[in-house]
Amino acid sequence: MKTEYKPLSIYIHIPFCVRKCLYCDFLSAPAGEKEKEDYLECLTEEIRREAVYYKKYEVQTVFIGGGTPSLVSALWMERILQVVYDNYKMADEREITIEVNPGTVSLDKLQAYYHMGINRLSIGLQSAQDNELKLLGRIHTAADFFRTYENAVKSGFNNINVDLMSAIPSQTVDSYKETLYKVLSLKPQPAHISAYSLIIEEGTPFYENTPELPDEETDRLMYKITDDILEENGYHRYEISNYAKPGYECRHNKVYWKRGDYAGFGIGAASLVNNVRFGNTGDIRTYINRIASGGNCNPEGIRCPGNGIRENIQKLSVKEQMEEYMFLGLRLTEGISCRDFYHTFGVKIDKIYGEVIKKLERQGLLLCKADETGDMRIALSEFGLDVSNVVMAEFLLE
Ligand code: SF4
Repeated sequence: MKTEYKPLSIYIHIPFCVRKCLYCDFLSAPAGEKEKEDYLECLTEEIRREAVYYKKYEVQTVFIGGGTPSLVSALWMERILQVVYDNYKMADEREITIEVNPGTVSLDKLQAYYHMGINRLSIGLQSAQDNELKLLGRIHTAADFFRTYENAVKSGFNNINVDLMSAIPSQTVDSYKETLYKVLSLKPQPAHISAYSLIIEEGTPFYENTPELPDEETDRLMYKITDDILEENGYHRYEISNYAKPGYECRHNKVYWKRGDYAGFGIGAASLVNNVRFGNTGDIRTYINRIASGGNCNPEGIRCPGNGIRENIQKLSVKEQMEEYMFLGLRLTEGISCRDFYHTFGVKIDKIYGEVIKKLERQGLLLCKADETGDMRIALSEFGLDVSNVVMAEFLLE
């Protein structure tokens, strides 16, 4: 009998950066060679050790994020991926993404990535204006980005994401537009563009010493411009902040939004498996010590992967699963399917959220419409996309 495998996504965290950008609150920091080596040894060990829990799964997507994964040598990256290939069943049509930052990746390294099976790049540009990059504390120039992009194309990559940021210090609507047009002048155009606005996070240098930023109205205008210009250029907005050419939506991120199973490896990495959420410690020394000492049984007694290195293990109640289903699913412009909600929870969505949906529809924040199969789909309207946080809060259950 043919074995039915469940789909799995893998996230691998590389927490190293050349230096910290001024706005960054990600789990990343500069590190010495010895610390990097120790970490990478433990990371490969964790990936290998955890494989036992995923024998009934087939890996559809891998995302190597950070930090700056491209700071790690190609040899190490190959070793990491080889451990994945050797210990997990891999789908033939898998998506394997690595985040790269301009200034940390050569043509040779990009060619090596391509040959080791990486088939998607996510390049952190943020802005094509050098003065703006400098104010953000980025280590690269716009020219570094264009060289990296050219080398990526030369190496064979055709699935490339470019990260852009709006509402950054000294940015104007015109300078933002220029960034967009410079990115769109690339040949070929990137398959995918992520466009976020800068958020000042606690604990960052920008939080302590906040520079002058474009006002909210300008920020909104930049979002609108992004939408208009990218749509004109053949991109489809498939998530609040993500645009793709047809067929190039990020499969990995869609797993997060659709609440598929994923396993995270490395410090701070989060996982969701069988409706249990768990995460790794964010402290690199604790992580290394736990892996090196073989781990021990998880204290909460919930059976889940992790073997003692996991923290915050949370078995989600049905109510929590429904809330997540709504918050995350509504991020996608295709919205959520009433039929799928019923199949997932065995109860009609109207019974749980009927009143809220009607209210938000009346307020013009949600759109409800039947698709060609007769399934009712609920999605954020354009106005709803603008104020998505307010809409999502309505789906919290008593
Ligand atoms: S490169 Fe990315 S992860 Fe590293 S400090 Fe800058 S924003 Fe943070």
